[in-house]
Amino acid sequence: MNFLLEKTTAIQKLLTRAQNWRFGRAKYPNGVEFSLWPPFAPRRRQRLEATPPRPDIDEMLNILEFPDPRLRTKAQPVTVFDQALQELIDAMFATMYAAPGIGLAATQVDVHKRLLVMDVSEERTQPLVLLNPRIIAREGSQVYQEGCLSVPGIFADVERADRIVVEALDRHGEPVRMETDALQAVCIQHEMDHLVGKLFVDYLSPLKRELVRKKLDKQRRSASAA
Ligand SMILES: [Zn+2]
Repeated sequence: MNFLLEKTTAIQKLLTRAQNWRFGRAKYPNGVEFSLWPPFAPRRRQRLEATPPRPDIDEMLNILEFPDPRLRTKAQPVTVFDQALQELIDAMFATMYAAPGIGLAATQVDVHKRLLVMDVSEERTQPLVLLNPRIIAREGSQVYQEGCLSVPGIFADVERADRIVVEALDRHGEPVRMETDALQAVCIQHEMDHLVGKLFVDYLSPLKRELVRKKLDKQRRSASAA
């Protein structure tokens, strides 16, 4: 029994190792995982944008809601890194934290620039801003129940890449490159969809999307009647 158990464990270990190699992952003797596939090769962790939330901003931006046609606008790259941009980023963070949400794309506040802000930390202490983001590598898949500040009160499972490598610019126009997974990877993919006019409800069947639209209509009617 023990022997069999040991043998099974050994086979499992081999299988796991084979699978890891297939996904281009391996481990150092100290247990730290590294990547064999160039885009995921070890490199210094991308520093997170250390911009504290601005409690002094009390003017929140208006968040467009599905099915507002302006949410379908394709955003243009950010080319000017001026004071107005910094103010927009701060206002977007304030609006996102107040909502509360974990991510907000400029499209959602009717600014059609390739810009998104997010913070997936539980303590809400890791604000991240990405300008002109591009996903240069993706692998695996994960299903996450997503929600959206533009589709309030609706949640649905969406399948997305599990690990991604993103290249973008920070708020001052400096290039950043980050490798991420889990919720942060989901959030980046969700927000980047907004920048090309896509919403998470687009992944649902037309029938389900219609139900979402009706539910939101009803929510708005009862909110305006109250
Ligand atoms: Zn969204």
